Amino acid sequence: MKITKHIQNLGTESAFEVLARAQALECSGESIINLGIGQPDFRTPENIVEAAQKALRDGHHGYTPANGILPLREIVAEDIEMRRKATINPNNIVIVPGGKVTIFFAALIFGEKGAEIIYPDPGFPIYRSAIEFSGATAVPIHLKEEKNFSFSATDVLDKITPATRLIILNSPANPTGGVVPKEELDCLVDGLLKYPRVAILSDEIYSRLIYEPYKHVSLMSYPSIRDRVILLDGWSKTYAMTGWRIGYGVWPSSIVDYVNRLAINNHSCVNAVAQFAAIEALKGPQESVRYMLRAFDKRRKVIVSELRKMPGIRCNDCAGAFYAMPNISNTGLTSTELQDKLLEEAGVAVIAGTSFGDYGEGFIRFSYAANVDTILEAMDRVRRFLEDY
Ligand code: PLP
Repeated sequence: MKITKHIQNLGTESAFEVLARAQALECSGESIINLGIGQPDFRTPENIVEAAQKALRDGHHGYTPANGILPLREIVAEDIEMRRKATINPNNIVIVPGGKVTIFFAALIFGEKGAEIIYPDPGFPIYRSAIEFSGATAVPIHLKEEKNFSFSATDVLDKITPATRLIILNSPANPTGGVVPKEELDCLVDGLLKYPRVAILSDEIYSRLIYEPYKHVSLMSYPSIRDRVILLDGWSKTYAMTGWRIGYGVWPSSIVDYVNRLAINNHSCVNAVAQFAAIEALKGPQESVRYMLRAFDKRRKVIVSELRKMPGIRCNDCAGAFYAMPNISNTGLTSTELQDKLLEEAGVAVIAGTSFGDYGEGFIRFSYAANVDTILEAMDRVRRFLEDY
């Protein structure tokens, strides 16, 4: 069979591979603590589950408009107005099966041979994979530990060339937990005024998972660039809904019709039940979100303090999301070596920093979406491994 070159450029997300290896080891009787995969360990809040059951009973089981049902897009617009101080027309919102889809669609719309797309490294692996699939050149912005994994606006602006079509940004960030401060975003937005043809994809899927004293600032809140910002957000992380497969993108008016066509060609619509559940998530009580945030904050403090006690490990304060990305270069092992040894010899699944880009060498990612006792047990195993090593 003769297959295309671009399909061979498609990367992957190692978290799923590590998950499969961890599950295989568990099946063979090993005790494995999984701090690899990035999904909340909480159940979807009950009011959301009930809304989904009601939707099915009420007969909402058919196709919906490709961009999502209007009441959902309206409530998303209200939520954006409230949290990001931006007025959005619901017709610019496209509901998609998970946050990832907006990344892929953006790569398909902006990427082709000869084009350049800037993306964060270490960063969510799907960015580079989608860019390379599109044929465009993936241009990394090096996120540095000493900047608490934020970037400096000048570093980003310096990467722009006449071929740059799109810049992908992610704050709070996977895998680093880094948050870009407002001053840096202000400088970036000022600098971007010189490049009116460059679009920005702002991945804000962790916007509500942010810890004191850090604050989320949305790129949607800057009117001067709003007509070229694509906002990515969704329900997966905030409402513990990773398996429901629902997220959204807010798209500039000039391209939203292409996005709707991509949706029609690709998936027709998101399943109706998930859309009704998503309405309840945004409209209903938010106590469960606050509860999960408090739990993550507690776990964050535990994991950072435990990691800092370990030989050869240095760990930043994690400002957002639910990841810690310690520097492990003083252990004498590479990221992949440590990932493999921790899985096979200590029974702790983590992800090598290099799964998130070349600049991830010297780091590993822990997802702290597990309860405090589990985290403490994992930390004990890692400490014993490092002390023996
Ligand atoms: N963006 C980032 C930065 C992520 O970490 C993830 C998931 O891990 C996504 C997008 C995709 O989220 P979803 O599961 O809704 O597709």
